[in-house]
Amino acid sequence: MIPAVGVVIGVTARWEISLDIITRKEWGARSPKSKTSTSWSKRTEVVVHYSEGPPSQTPRQIQNFHMDSRGWSDIGYNFLVDTKGRIYEGRGWLVIGAHATGHNTSGIGVCMIGRDGDATDAAKRAIRWLYDEACRRAGRTLAKRGHRDVGSTACPGAELYAWVKKGMPAPGGSSSPAPPPSKPPTAKAPKWPGVYLTQPPMMRHAAARTWQARMRARGWNIAVDGVYGPGSEAVCRAFQKEKRLQVDGVVGPKTWAAAWTAPVT
Ligand SMILES: [Zn+2]
Repeated sequence: MIPAVGVVIGVTARWEISLDIITRKEWGARSPKSKTSTSWSKRTEVVVHYSEGPPSQTPRQIQNFHMDSRGWSDIGYNFLVDTKGRIYEGRGWLVIGAHATGHNTSGIGVCMIGRDGDATDAAKRAIRWLYDEACRRAGRTLAKRGHRDVGSTACPGAELYAWVKKGMPAPGGSSSPAPPPSKPPTAKAPKWPGVYLTQPPMMRHAAARTWQARMRARGWNIAVDGVYGPGSEAVCRAFQKEKRLQVDGVVGPKTWAAAWTAPVT
């Protein structure tokens, strides 16, 4: 999905950006039947949910349920976290979800995959992280809500709700960023698309989006807009330097593959 706010501020170390989101593509999401976006000015709250299913549930299973049984256009939530602290992109930051009646435009829905009592420290850290990132992107403080604050439901369960009401304290009491949620350090790279991503002039190509999304998932601060411009090149160069590749700012076969296969450091 396209992060609607994609301003490249520059290359930052991955721990500074704090989010390592498993993209829809990475978890094998189905395409939405439709989608409607809103804007950050309309977002005022983060609404925490639980899936009320086993922690082993996959985002894809939840998506199938929402699309096939509920008839929704897509998975209902904007993001999901699992008990290992992994964060999954649902509808993303600005697409209007289907998670809390009357609060889908104002609220970013974050779902913990699990039942009452399943929320681990890692899951809480991931939720807190999403909350902080949402505030950063919105440019202001958003309200912290549990689903039951805005609807007649037990969601997100007594334990998680109590944590939300306490102000979502970062487990461990540290205010410093937690390490990124774990994600497989290496993966099989998709086939090189056969096009060298380079600029200038700025290049618009589907492969640019794929590469940008992968780099963003690795933790780089990069716009995922399908346009290979100066920001993308800066990330490319920094990555090439880090991975001891030829530093030319061009995404060719080696740099492309390394984006998937090089360990995340
Ligand atoms: Zn809920």
